[in-house]
Parts: sequence; C-alpha cells; structure tokens
Amino acid sequence: MHLKVLTLPGDGIGVEVTREAVRVLETVARKFSHTLAIREALLGGVAIHKTGNPLPPETEALAIEADATLMGAVGLPEFDNAPPEKRPEKGLLALRKCLGVFANLRPVRTSKALLDSSPLKNHLIEGTDLIIVRELTGGIYYGSPRGILETDGRVSAINTMHYTREEIERVCRVSFQLARNRRGKLTSVDKSNVLECSQLWRRVVTELATEFPGVTLDHLLVDNCAMQLVLNPRRFDVLVMENMFGDILSDEGAVLAGSIGMLPSASIGDRRPSGVWVGLFEPVHGSAPDIAGQNKANPLGAIGSVAAMLEYSFGLTQEAAAVNNAIEAVLNAGKVTADLKPAGPPLTTVEVGQAVCEAL
Ligand code: NAD
Repeated sequence: MHLKVLTLPGDGIGVEVTREAVRVLETVARKFSHTLAIREALLGGVAIHKTGNPLPPETEALAIEADATLMGAVGLPEFDNAPPEKRPEKGLLALRKCLGVFANLRPVRTSKALLDSSPLKNHLIEGTDLIIVRELTGGIYYGSPRGILETDGRVSAINTMHYTREEIERVCRVSFQLARNRRGKLTSVDKSNVLECSQLWRRVVTELATEFPGVTLDHLLVDNCAMQLVLNPRRFDVLVMENMFGDILSDEGAVLAGSIGMLPSASIGDRRPSGVWVGLFEPVHGSAPDIAGQNKANPLGAIGSVAAMLEYSFGLTQEAAAVNNAIEAVLNAGKVTADLKPAGPPLTTVEVGQAVCEAL
C-alpha cells in the first residue's frame, strides 16, 4: 500500500514524540513492504511564530490532500493570554473542522507491566481492552443559542444541546463497525431518563443495530457508566456517546492505563473512494512545557497513535498489532521513560523510540 501521511509535530514535546513516532512508522512500513510519502507542516504556536496563523493555509491544504495526519501537540505558555484567534489550540480545532473528523476514538488497553501505575486495584483493571468513541463535532459544545445574557440587571447563561439523526447515525455506524471487528459488543451511553437528545440517540442507535446482527448492543446511563468504568472496566468493548459525555468519560478511561504519556487517540471522518478513512491521530497529552526539550517525554502515546492510524485509516490490522506488540515488549522489558517510574534508570524519548523499532 502507498501511505500518504502528513506530520504536524507542533509545540513542546510534540516535536520530540512525533520524531519517534515517524521512526516507528518508517520501520513498520519497511517490515511490511509499504511505501510512504511523508510531508511535514506547521501547526500551533510554531505556526503562529513563523506565519502569524495557528493553521496556515498550506497546512490545511496538505492535511486535506493526505490520507492521514499524525499530530504531536500544540500549546506554548507564552500564548496563554493571547486572543482566541492567536492561540495554538485554535489551529487544532480548525484542523479537526476542516478534516470533518466526527468520531474520536480513545483506545484504553492496560498493560501487565503498568498495572501498578494505575490508581485502581490490579485485579480490577487487568485485561481491560476498550475503545471510547466520542461524537466530536456536535452537541452542547457547538449548539446555539449560547452565551452569557444580562437583562434588566439579571445575569444568566445558556448553552444548547442539539443533535440531528444524521449526526448520531454516522458516529454510531463507525462504532458498530469497530465492535464488529473486535469482540462484538457495543455500549451506547446516554441520559435518556432526562434529555430528549439522549432519547433520540437511543432510538437511532437501536434502529441501526438491525444492520449489525453480529453486534450485541446495550444501553447505559452516563452516571452508571462513570461508575462501571472504575468498578468493572473489563465488561466493555466499544462505548459510544455524545460529545460532552465522551469528553468527561474518556479522561476517566485514561486513568485506567497508568500515565497520560501512554495514550493514543484517533479522530475519524468520512471514507474516501479509495477505501481509506480520513483521520487525525495524536497522543492525548499536551505539549508539556515543563519537560519540553529535555528528551524525557514518553513517546508511547504518539507511537500508539501510529498503530491507530494503520488500523483505522488504512485497515492494516496486522501492522497495527505489530506496533502494539512492540510497545508491549518494550514495557515488559522495563525500557520506559521516567513518568512510568521504572525500577532502574529511565530511558530517554529517543531510546524508547529506538527500543520500539528494535522490537519491531
Ligand atoms: P500536558 O498534557 O501537556 O501535561 C500535563 C502533565 O503531564 C505535565 O506534568 C507533563 O509533563 C506530563 N506529561 C504530558 N505528556 C507527557 C509525556 N508524553 N511524557 C511524560 N510526561 C508527560 O497538559 P497541560 O500541562 O495541561 O498543558 C500544556 C499545554 O498543552 C497547554 O498549552 C495546553 O493547552 C496544551 N494541550 C494541548 C493538547 C493537544 O495538543 N491535543 C492537549 C492538552 C493540552
């Protein structure tokens, strides 16, 4: 296969972890005889410095042209008080919008070697392997009317949760397809005892289930789901939910895996005629200014994002498994950065990247 990939290292440790992720991508492509066309472009604070724009038009054009985009992280402390249009994060939001990525996938897999790094008891989390799918472009974060209102000296605020059938259907369809290729179980999370949006959500996902006879669908109220995620995370395979519920529960899911530096994410849009899914892949963490430039950052979230890209954009499941197995081997060998608190001296970002390539 010919893989057309755009990389956007961004700011802070984004640059360091993306370099290692690209090294792993090149290694896995060589091993499985795929060809790669990798372009690199500017996003975030570095793009503001060089062009005045957090998402320069050239970057936007390259992202639209690429099959998949691999991002590091954006954000620099010097922009913390800048106006919204001049903030690095604005570039990322605009990028997600221009790519039309509506489903955010957060795989959470616990590794035996890291069970002790989780705040939960080992027997509860061992064997956890789930994916949280969050609707990314609709719901209360985007609905209108919105704002803080002042009328006759009284202040109030309003936000609107709004969903169309089509918005619900497309993200649930992606989730059914994922579940079909995994253990065949989909949990739809809502608040249908209170919210009309959730009632529509439940109706649409239930109707869609008839198209996927191999997948067992169940429904869970979001408050109960928050509890089940820490009581019995092994019961889940794929979970799907609207934007705000996903924002909150995916961070809860992140705690199960140990360190934030470990977690990949994938944002998926429409399928191209070539069969490739448009996708934006990035580690969950930010630019970590406190450790940037010190060769200390854990690159495994970025490397896991390469695995996610191979699997979800290109359908290369064997290649994705090879990368995930290499990550597991490196963890089991204790070849990890300081955030994972190794028994011996910690490895650097570059050494961990090298170890994954060698394991591959
Ligand atoms: P952060 O994720 O950058 O860092 C939080 C803590 O986790 C820090 O102590 C950091 O050192 C540590 N950490 C994060 N990633 C790590 C890794 N790979 N290895 C080892 N340790 C790691 O979050 P923050 O400090 O709240 O934000 C810093 C900047 O990043 C801000 O400008 C924020 O807006 C931005 N941010 C960007 C994204 C993104 O690009 N998707 C996400 C979150 C935050």
